[in-house]
Amino acid sequence: MDCSILVEKLITRIRSFGSKKLSYSGRLVLVSSVLTALYNYWVNIFVIPKGVLNKVNSICRNYLWDGGPDFIRCPRVSWEKICSPKSEGGLGLRDSHVWNIAAMGKLVWWIYYNPDRLWVKWVNQIYLKGQCWDDYQPGTDISWGWKSVCRIKDKLAAGYSNGQWVLDTKGYTIQSGYELLRQKFQTVTWHKQIWNTWCIPKHQFIAWLVAREALLLKERMLSLGIAAAADCLLCGKGIENHIHLFQTCEYARKIFDELGQLLVVALPATDLVHLIASGQHSKLKKGVLLCAVLAAQYHIWIQRNQARVAGCILRPTLVISQIMKLLKMRVSSRLQPNLVSRDVMWLSSVKLHM
Ligand SMILES: [Zn+2]
Repeated sequence: MDCSILVEKLITRIRSFGSKKLSYSGRLVLVSSVLTALYNYWVNIFVIPKGVLNKVNSICRNYLWDGGPDFIRCPRVSWEKICSPKSEGGLGLRDSHVWNIAAMGKLVWWIYYNPDRLWVKWVNQIYLKGQCWDDYQPGTDISWGWKSVCRIKDKLAAGYSNGQWVLDTKGYTIQSGYELLRQKFQTVTWHKQIWNTWCIPKHQFIAWLVAREALLLKERMLSLGIAAAADCLLCGKGIENHIHLFQTCEYARKIFDELGQLLVVALPATDLVHLIASGQHSKLKKGVLLCAVLAAQYHIWIQRNQARVAGCILRPTLVISQIMKLLKMRVSSRLQPNLVSRDVMWLSSVKLHM
């Protein structure tokens, strides 16, 4: 099989999206849909060479970061981390190479449990020749495809015990194979807050980068030798790093202090996502506050970029009015009829619901 067709199809597809103007979250949806289409066809039915799937991964990664198939700068978060579940700080994408191995794990399973399949009969006749599949070791003069199946058996060996797949009660599933093979990361404490359904996807992506401290800020740029100074572009009074820009910066403080007054809640210079999560708020209030904080982080990031590119920024009051407008829209579109009186009183007092 000529796998270069797969790469070409992907590049053509990604070029057809043709949008550097899309937000990160918009590109994430497209990458996810491309990869899903890929799983649904190619990687589920063929063993694809690692080099080809690495190329597929890099095309998707480049599109996510830069809106095109080629991207020469260092990605802000590694592909392995992006491909981890949201609970481990990733974006929940799947690595196509690992998925391909897991999908082809079906063949290993079939040899154990589906002796009547035509392909298994053929394998028995040509390769196994009566040998036990558990103990079988391939010779050197065999086809690339069969060698790959044997290699996949070795990679999945930890999931088998006495020929039984022990990681799923239903027997071998691609999902359980993928779970065994994928790289694991520590669980993070912030994923439920950032991916809260009250928040806006493009705000969530920036909040994810903030939580991972993965934005390319001037402190980091200075250490890489790509900036001459590290002073904050918004207030000029501090070193531009994640803590300064999103917590202690004078510009950010004006936004959070006034937003806190309008929402009758303290939004001090700390990790606000964590603070709101640990506060004694109702589910609705937590959702609205998280939506507000993520929106503020997003606008601070946009204004920082405006300052860098155009040398001018919006006044904090204008940013706050945009955030309050967004909150009103979110509340009116998501409000359930069976509100508890505590929520009704708070929403009325902060003028988000009449
Ligand atoms: Zn500042």
